Amino acid sequence: MSRPSQMRLHAFSTGTITLPFGSFLPGSKGKITVPVPCYLIDHPKGRAMVDTGIHPEIAGGSVARLGEVARYFTINITPSEVVDAQIARIGFGPADVDLIINTHLHYDHCGGNICLPDARVIVQRREWQAANDPLEIAANNYNPDDYAHCSDHLHLVEGEHDVFGDGSVVCLPTYGHTPGHQSVRIAMAGRRILLCGDACYLRENLERLTPSMVCRDKDAARAALRRLMDYREQGIELIYGHDPVQWEALRAAPDMFV
Ligand SMILES: [Zn+2]
Repeated sequence: MSRPSQMRLHAFSTGTITLPFGSFLPGSKGKITVPVPCYLIDHPKGRAMVDTGIHPEIAGGSVARLGEVARYFTINITPSEVVDAQIARIGFGPADVDLIINTHLHYDHCGGNICLPDARVIVQRREWQAANDPLEIAANNYNPDDYAHCSDHLHLVEGEHDVFGDGSVVCLPTYGHTPGHQSVRIAMAGRRILLCGDACYLRENLERLTPSMVCRDKDAARAALRRLMDYREQGIELIYGHDPVQWEALRAAPDMFV
């Protein structure tokens, strides 16, 4: 697959999740159905997925692998919404993806890594360490089956990391939701975009400076929200992690997001 002369960005939702609204925004009632975004960055120097969505076995009907959390969530995903099927719709196969940037290692962010077996996986070192520590696995509801297979093609980073060395794609630490969560800043076509990941589920989490209930370290998560607020004030467009209202307004593949 030839390289583009200019960077492109495609957005996908690998199904949806329905869950109690209060788990996202404390005090809210009822349920909310949210997108499960992942993004393909087609850069002249390589092709990178930011997150990979939900594991194909779940799309095949096996929710048992979710364990305890399956009691709280309803996952709605078909095989045609799994990450490899999604990128096929814009003409790419698994071997065309060079890198995966995992914001963190929750099941709905790295479950599709298995579909892209040749890609090098960029993750914060402290996230990987937590995801291999029995106490942290339990505290964060990680599922090692989602990422253990990545151990021989990891690129562990610490703090800020410029993926292509040109400032166009930069990992930014936003710890708190999980011990090593990172967000991804993208500069292209005169725009600066921040893929927040789960550092901020919904616009309301930012407006209220209130982390979600799914959070390993509330103080760190609140500090990350403050930094996101600063970025927004600097003119960076924030793309929230699971915001159904914002998602409706975004251009998703096969259209080009940017
Ligand atoms: Zn998460």
